[in-house]
Amino acid sequence: MDYKLQDQELWDAIGREEIRQQHNIELIASENIVSDGVRAAQGSVLTNKYAEGYPGKRYYGGCEFIDLEKHLAIDRAKKLFGAEYANVQPHSGSQANAAAYAAFIKPGDKILGMDLNAGGHLTHGAKVSFSGTFYQSASYGVDPVTEELDYEAIRQIALREKPQIIVAGASAYSRVIDWQKFRNIADEVGAYLMVDMAHIAGLVATGLHPSPVGIADVVTSTTHKTLRGPRGGLILSQEKYAKQLNFAVFPQNQGGPLEHVIAAKAVAFGEALRPDFEEYAQQVLKNAQAMAKVFEQEEDLHVVSGGTDNHLMTVDLTKTGLNGKEVQNLLDSVFITTNKEAIPDEKLSPFKTSGIRIGTPAITTRGFKEVDCQEVAKLIIKAIHNADKPEVLDQIKLNVFQITDRYPI
Ligand code: PLP
Repeated sequence: MDYKLQDQELWDAIGREEIRQQHNIELIASENIVSDGVRAAQGSVLTNKYAEGYPGKRYYGGCEFIDLEKHLAIDRAKKLFGAEYANVQPHSGSQANAAAYAAFIKPGDKILGMDLNAGGHLTHGAKVSFSGTFYQSASYGVDPVTEELDYEAIRQIALREKPQIIVAGASAYSRVIDWQKFRNIADEVGAYLMVDMAHIAGLVATGLHPSPVGIADVVTSTTHKTLRGPRGGLILSQEKYAKQLNFAVFPQNQGGPLEHVIAAKAVAFGEALRPDFEEYAQQVLKNAQAMAKVFEQEEDLHVVSGGTDNHLMTVDLTKTGLNGKEVQNLLDSVFITTNKEAIPDEKLSPFKTSGIRIGTPAITTRGFKEVDCQEVAKLIIKAIHNADKPEVLDQIKLNVFQITDRYPI
C-alpha cells in the first residue's frame, strides 16, 4: 500500500507545510530552502546505517561506503573554509557548541558570550541552556548608542570576569564582527576563542564576511542557515585540536552520526564551492540592505544599529505601539513569516519582545531581487500601520500571493 495512504494524517500535514512554504514569504533569518540534491541525500538509504566512530575507526562493520561519503563531506568542508580540521558529525549547532566547550573547558569553568538581548544565542551561556547550567557564564552586549559591539567594553568585561573561553558570533547581529579584536582580548585574559558563525557561514564561505578560521581556536556552525544545507552542525579547527574535538563529539556528546544528513552536508558544501553560490550570497546581502533602507526611512521603525552588513536585521518596533509577538502574529496572518526578537536594552519578556528579526536567505534562494525586497518591506510597514483594518490586510495577502507566485520554489 502507498505509504501516504497508510498514514494520511502525517502526509496531509507535510503536504500542507509544502503549500505554506510555497505561498508564504519566508523571512526567518535562520531558514533557507535546500536544493533537490540536499533533500535527496537526506532521504537516502544512508539513514539505515550505524557508523559510530570516525573513518577507518568504526565500531560497526559495513562502513566502507559511509567512509567514502564522510571523507567527501570532511574534505569539502575543509576546502570551503580553508580549515585544517573539520568534524561534520554534530547533529545541530547546539551539539557543535556543546562539543566545542567539552573539548576546551571543564564543567564549572566560565564562558563569556554575547547577551541574548543583544543578539547572542542560548548556547553562549544563557541560564536556561546547558551552557549556563554546566558552566558559569558572563555576557557582553552592544554599545547603547551605536548598538554595535564595543570591543573595549568587551575587553573590560573579560578582564573582570576572567573567562576560560570567549564566544564570538550571534543569532541576531547585523554588523561585521572583528575576530582579531576578540582574539586579542582572549589572548590578554588567557582564554580560548570560540567563534560560532552559524548565521553567517554562507557569507564567510564566499568571502563576504571575514573568516574566523585561523584566528579562533575553534569555529562552530550550523549548516542550514546562509550555508543552505541540511539542518545540522559543523566544527572547524586546527589539526592540533583534532583528537580532543573528535572525542568531545563522539563518544562524549553523541552516539551514531546521522550519515544521511552528513551526505546532505557534503552536497551543500559542494554547492557552496561553486561560483553561483557566491552570486547567491551577494544577492542575499543586497536584498537585506534594500529592505533595511526602506525600514530606516520609516518614522516609527528603527533598524538596530542603523542597517545591515549581512543577511539579517532586527527591526525595533518600540514606537509603533506594537510588540514583537503582536507583529509576528500580524504578519503571519498575511502570510509573511518572521520571528519576534529582543532589542538591545529590552524591556519586555522574551515571549513578547520589542522587535522582529528579518532575514533574506530563503527569499533570495527563490529568486527575490532588491525590488521585490523593497516591495515586501513596504507590505510589512503597511500591515503594521493598518493592523486593525481587515480590508487592507486582505489586500496585502493578495499582494503576497502575487509575489510568491512569481518565484515558485
Ligand atoms: N548558534 C547560533 C549563532 C544560532 O543562531 C543557532 C540557531 O539558531 C545555533 C547555534 C543552534 O543551532 P541549532 O538550532 O541547530 O541547535
